[in-house]
Amino acid sequence: MSTNRYANGNARRKLRARLKAEGRPCWICRAFGRPAAIDYSLPHNHPLAFEVDELVPVSKGGSELDYNNVDAAHRRCNQWRSNRSVGQVLAIASKAREARNSLPQPFSDW
Ligand SMILES: [Zn+2]
Repeated sequence: MSTNRYANGNARRKLRARLKAEGRPCWICRAFGRPAAIDYSLPHNHPLAFEVDELVPVSKGGSELDYNNVDAAHRRCNQWRSNRSVGQVLAIASKAREARNSLPQPFSDW
């Protein structure tokens, strides 16, 4: 299979622009139930900057050009995820939410 680098780069830019136009939140923050909005105007090296995250990494056979295989993530969330699978991320997030929900509720009538 021959790969046209220029066409690939172009397709990646389009995919990136599409996620940005949708104003996608960070899928990892969403999984953890925390504020997930992405400020798309941040410089690319900012910890909260937008990155395109491949759900199934290219190294594991996923396509970086498949709209259904990408989602938006904060740069720092993407770095935290590293080589964890989506399933691993969701399992960790689920435990974190349970732990949070088991904390005593603050008094609300003070
Ligand atoms: Zn995030």
